[in-house]
Amino acid sequence: MGNCPECGAMIEDEGFELGEIIECEGCGVELEITSVAPLEFVVFEEEEK
Ligand SMILES: [Zn+2]
Repeated sequence: MGNCPECGAMIEDEGFELGEIIECEGCGVELEITSVAPLEFVVFEEEEK
């Protein structure tokens, strides 16, 4: 379990896989899983061209 770095919403561990991109239910930001135990993630920055 962790908290969204953008809005602080609680994100429950639902069996995510390393590198998986999830969407915060609170603010819709995309988060990339960087660790599963413990659950850690960073805001996924999609490069725009
Ligand atoms: Zn959020």
